[in-house]
Amino acid sequence: MGLAAGEPAGRERMMDHFEYRSGELFCEQVAVAEIASAVGTPVYVYSAATLLHHYRAIGEAFRELRPTICFSVKSLSNIHILKLLASAGSGFDVVSGGELERVRAIGADASKVVFAGVAKTDREILDALAADIGCFNVESEEEFINLSRLAESAGRKATVALRINPDVYDPQTHRYTATGKKATKFGVDIDQAEAFFDRFGHDAHAHLEGIHFHLGSPIYSAEPYVQAITKTLPVIQRLREREFPLRLLNIGGGFAADYERGRSPAAADYAEPIVPLLRDTGLSITLEPGRFIACNAGLLLTSVQYVKQSGGRKFVIVDAAMTDLIRPVLYGAQHLIYPARLPAGAEPPQRRPDYAAPEGETVDIVGGVCETSDFLATDRVLPKLARGDLAAVFSAGAYGFVMASQYNSRPRAAEVLVEGDRFRLIRRRETHDDLLAPEHEV
Ligand SMILES: *Cc1c(COP(=O)(O)O)cnc(C)c1O
Repeated sequence: MGLAAGEPAGRERMMDHFEYRSGELFCEQVAVAEIASAVGTPVYVYSAATLLHHYRAIGEAFRELRPTICFSVKSLSNIHILKLLASAGSGFDVVSGGELERVRAIGADASKVVFAGVAKTDREILDALAADIGCFNVESEEEFINLSRLAESAGRKATVALRINPDVYDPQTHRYTATGKKATKFGVDIDQAEAFFDRFGHDAHAHLEGIHFHLGSPIYSAEPYVQAITKTLPVIQRLREREFPLRLLNIGGGFAADYERGRSPAAADYAEPIVPLLRDTGLSITLEPGRFIACNAGLLLTSVQYVKQSGGRKFVIVDAAMTDLIRPVLYGAQHLIYPARLPAGAEPPQRRPDYAAPEGETVDIVGGVCETSDFLATDRVLPKLARGDLAAVFSAGAYGFVMASQYNSRPRAAEVLVEGDRFRLIRRRETHDDLLAPEHEV
């Protein structure tokens, strides 16, 4: 039931608060050029209104289930973003001790924090026990035994959901980002779930109270969730009949976002077939959206350094690189890129891949890292760009800055949050001193 590329989804919906006014790109009420002159480039620019819009849209679509929404911290981890979401009521899904530290740093409600990950260390588990988080999503027998032992030694009780692998997948999901298929490292096979409860369901220190799955990312239709839930509910039913106190079901994240307008299902398209399945189960439902909330809320603003012709191709060389946004290189992801200022009289791009700029030229947009694979986009028809021009890489809020590296000893970009007509730095640009400090300090 997936959407073919370019086919519009069932409903139109607000994509983001980035728009052109008289040829000039704005984030909410702020011209992005103003941000670039204040903090330099490359810089990630986030729209608070867009972030909150998508957070609310998913809660609204699933409201009948009164779900706990645990924003996936790994998709966009800046503490100022987390703070904004926490104040809107969000919980958090963390996958490491570092992410746990971030949610602790903002004083998030620990009861709405869930912790997944196949490799949790003793240190991470002890920190999470001390923080009294809402749920450990346990991924193996050994991990469960270790968690129980650590909980006992710390004099704590842990609430646990078993991460199962329901063996369904979305054929449209890149194989590196599919996690809910048999023979991935995540979770235990669904047909092992009952044996797991038999063995550990009455543990005195780690209380097994739920089931968790996360199918991968992005999932372009409700169908894989429906299949996974349909496979999981009978397991829950049988466990309940055998007096295991099952009360939690966490259906993970993976809800798709629009990298081009209308490409992905709306929140309601996911919720419509899912909600009736869960309505009368008495289960407390958790969702872990990351990309759905963060993707469209951010763009990467970069400046053109040089333009050159080589081997019959035209290269626009910018000051951002694969070190700032690795998704095009890693997953073949297609991010739309447009100039921050359009040529006089040009129509604003419709945010679809077939945008052909007037008097456009076909270019590759590349960074300065010493790798041939360092590109942000290839074969794009864009208005003529020249040294000093600003370009915006759209839909870069999720898995953008968080995957940045310092390869080639490049300091990581700054991050800016826009709220209405104001903007503020939420992460300063790294300096060369930041890069060298751990080496000087030894
Ligand atoms: C990455 C991840 C998510 C979020 O995935 P999105 O596609 O960003 O929604 C949710 N849950 C778990 C366990 C994850 O690892």
